[in-house]
Parts: sequence; C-alpha cells; structure tokens
Amino acid sequence: MDALNFINGQWCHSTTGEWLAITNPATEEPLGRVVLSSVDDVDQAVQTAGRAYDVWRRVPVTERIQYLFRLKQLLEENFEDLARTITLECGKTLAEARGEIRRGIENVETACGMPLMMQGYNNEDIARGVDEHLYRQPLGVVVAITPFNFPLMIPLWFLPYAIASGNCFILKPSEKVPLSAVKLIEILHQTGLPAGVVQLVHGRKATVEALLDHPEVRAVSFVGSSTVAKYVYSRAAASGKRAQCQGGAKNPVVILPDADLEMTTKIVAEGAFGCAGQRCLATSIAVLVGSAQQPFSEAICDAAASRRVGYGLDADVEMGPVVSAESKQRIEQLIELGLGEGAAPRVNGKARRPNGHDRGSFVLPTVLDNVAPSGTLARTEIFGPVLSLLYADTIDEALGVINSSPYGNMACLFTTSGAAARRFRNESVVGNVGINIGVPAPMAFYPFSGWKESFFGDLHAQGRHAVEFYTQTKVVVERWHTAWSRKF
Ligand code: NAD
Repeated sequence: MDALNFINGQWCHSTTGEWLAITNPATEEPLGRVVLSSVDDVDQAVQTAGRAYDVWRRVPVTERIQYLFRLKQLLEENFEDLARTITLECGKTLAEARGEIRRGIENVETACGMPLMMQGYNNEDIARGVDEHLYRQPLGVVVAITPFNFPLMIPLWFLPYAIASGNCFILKPSEKVPLSAVKLIEILHQTGLPAGVVQLVHGRKATVEALLDHPEVRAVSFVGSSTVAKYVYSRAAASGKRAQCQGGAKNPVVILPDADLEMTTKIVAEGAFGCAGQRCLATSIAVLVGSAQQPFSEAICDAAASRRVGYGLDADVEMGPVVSAESKQRIEQLIELGLGEGAAPRVNGKARRPNGHDRGSFVLPTVLDNVAPSGTLARTEIFGPVLSLLYADTIDEALGVINSSPYGNMACLFTTSGAAARRFRNESVVGNVGINIGVPAPMAFYPFSGWKESFFGDLHAQGRHAVEFYTQTKVVVERWHTAWSRKF
C-alpha cells in the first residue's frame, strides 16, 4: 500500500518523488511505501489549512463536535481493521493494538465536551457600568508530530481537541508506521469533515523542519525521543510558536517488602515487557527494597522467561517484536553495554528467537541484575523489553534513584502501606505516579504529565490542558452607558 499525503480533501503524491519502505517487523515482509514530503508540500498543506481555518473557526462548536461523534462511531465500526493495521506495521499484539484504539477513542469522546470545556468566564461591574469577559478563541493552523509506538492513539491525543476548538490540523506521523494514520484520515474523511480542516503530511526530519519553520503554523505538539523533543521545542519557540513536546523516559517502579508478590509480579512484567517495552510508560527499572529483593527478583525472572513471544496476529501471543531491525540492534547493544558495566544477565533475551520465527526483529524479555544506579544503562532509555534490577535498603534510597534521574515521566510504588504510598506520591519528582499500578497512563480527561527531560513546554496533551493549549484567551472590558439606551 502507498501511504500518500492528504491535502485539501485529496490523496496526493509528494513533489520529491521519494519513498521509504514500510516493513512488517515480525516477518520482515514489505507492507508498502510512504512518501517523503518537501518544503513545497508542507507549504501547500499549511496554506490549505489556513484558508480552511477562516471558515472552520466560524462553524459553531456544537456543529464542529458532530464530526467527532461520527468519528467515534466509525472508529468503533473499523476497530478490528485498525487493530490489524497497527499490529502489522508496529509489531504489538492484537490485544495491545485494541487497547491503544480504545484509549484513542476516549480522547475523541472527551473532546466532544468542547462546548463546555472552551467556555470562558466573566464579571459584571468590575467598575460601575463596566463588564469584563474572557473568551477562548482557536489559534489557527496547528501541527502534531508523532512517534511510532502508538500510531493511532497518539495522533488522537491532539486531533480531536484541535479541531473541536476551531483550529485546522496537520498530522506528521512516524514514517515507520504511516498506515495507521492513513486509515485514521480515511475514516475521518468519511465523517464529511470539510476539506482542509485536517491534512496528513508524511516525512522525516526535513518535513518536520519545514513545519516548524512555516510562519503560518501557530502551535506544535510533538511526541518522541527526548533529544528530538528538545530540538523541536527550541526550533518551534524560536519562530514564536506554542510548543508542547513530550520526550523519552526511564521509568522506575519501587517494590516494598509488604507488596503483594503475585499481583506485583504480574503487573511489573506487563509494564516491562508489554508492547515489547516500547511504551513511554514502560517499566525499565525495578528498585527492590529490603526483603523484597530475593522473592521478587526470582518471580520476575520466571515471568520474563515464560512470556509467550511471537507474531502479534497469532492467538495467545503476549509480546511481539520491536519495531525495526535498527531498534533490535540498538537494544542489543545496550544490553551488551550493561553487561560491560557489570550487570548480570538473569534472563538474557539478546540474540534469541521465539520458536518458529527465523525472521523478525525479536528481542526476548531480558532481566539484568546488579545494575549500577549511576551507570549508563540505568540512565539511558532502552525502549525494549529489558528490566534492570536495582537494590535499596529504604524507601528514601529508592526515592533517591527516582529523583536523580534526568527523566520524570513516571514512577510507581507497590506496597500495602498507605503512609508509604502517600509519601511516595508527594516526594517523587515525576509527572505520572502509579500506586499498585504499573502503567499509570492518564485517562483522556487528565493531562499526560511528563516532567524534566520527559517534557518540554507547560501544557500537556489531553483533557483541559489540550483545550488551554489549542486556544488563546481574549479579554474584553466593555462599557455600555444606560444613558445611551435611552436614545432608542
Ligand atoms: P523519534 O524521536 O525518533 O521520532 C518522533 C517523531 O519525530 C517522528 O515523527 C519522526 O519522524 C520525527 N523525527 C525523528 N528525528 C527527527 C529529527 N532529528 N528532527 C525532527 N523530527 C524528527 O521517536 P520514536 O522512535 O518514533 O518514538 C519513541 C520515543 O518516543 C521514545 O523515546 C518514547 O519514550 C517517546 N514517547 C514519549 C511519549 C510521551 O508521552 N512522553 C509517548 C510515546 C513515545
């Protein structure tokens, strides 16, 4: 399948004539190719969106959300086809793909509340006969640049809020997984959304830079690795744009001796190895406190070794491949680096294949013991199914590991102590906290709150933050003398 751009309601080729191959990571079979867009293609998309904006911003919000109600319905109707597409190009299991779609749809549902969410506020008589009002108005043309790991959900962190609040929207999805975005836009087109309100532009760095530098783009949402997030944030800000840039992570979980061993093991295994460790909320480090060390390390090694790995389309598979051969190579190099730093491989998934698969970018679940807290491995995002075990004597020591990390996406605590949980919630320097939860992904009506190197900006994706991000406030102070009314 050819993944084309979608501009002004039409599917179109890029002016570069350049393509990139799309590959199934489980089988290495070709799935199609994706166009790479030029500065001219980007300019065409932005100008089209700019013209559409003049009309779209005047469409009443109550009408704008009707397209989202239709979108939700069509996403439900196309649910299985979308799940299959995600699995084919991204590698995750069908169950994981279904979960992702559900979380995406929840954002569509939440954005249907836009009439209420974008209300302003006002005061009568801030001085005698003078009233003051705050209105929220859309920004204009806004852009989202998204990563490979949630090809459908992450575009939906932005698109529904952007258009419901009156903006016109351009999506630049990951070039590794463009087919899910193509399906999303095909479905959106069936809602009857006016041409130009949403455009799709494929590409890599050069396409992103053309979007960041375009003077008519008012705001940029980005999700991806921290290095690129920081770069996108500074380049967008340099040309006066609003930016919210979500970056990478190195997520720790802390296990206290009083934690429920069976439940904790199940949850931590899912957090570390689910989606082949390619979640920004994936568990990467387990800090075992005191007497939790021995029972938990044994239980998690059993869980890692017994996880069923294979092709995501096959029944009963619990973990698929990582997204590409380059990712596999990078992850395996990091495992080597950890071993070089003195870590012990309790379960080593490197250079091993699931039974029956002699091709595909598979890395089996890996558990590394005795990882040095200050070593490179403990501070580098692996983005693969690799769990590092660290040891601490006290919860203070565990909090020290969390708070000295350059990242601040998430931390979780497993305990049956309310006091410990309260302290952890209060003192962990991260934006998303889980208590006896392994992947504390905020619901659509809460912001996805990364901190430190995991986020650049102030307003996060989803919920009320999205409404704030996609609208600008206008304050009106007005006087109407009663004397003037008497003339009529
Ligand atoms: P990536 O940074 O390689 O790519 C993200 C997007 O940026 C893609 O659309 C890509 O085309 C573009 N891009 C890549 N390099 C660029 C460059 N030099 N200049 C401009 N644009 C560039 O990320 P990825 O590998 O697709 O996704 C994995 C990363 O995303 C991980 O680090 C993960 O933690 C992070 N992530 C974060 C969150 C979050 O909410 N914080 C959510 C999902 C993924």
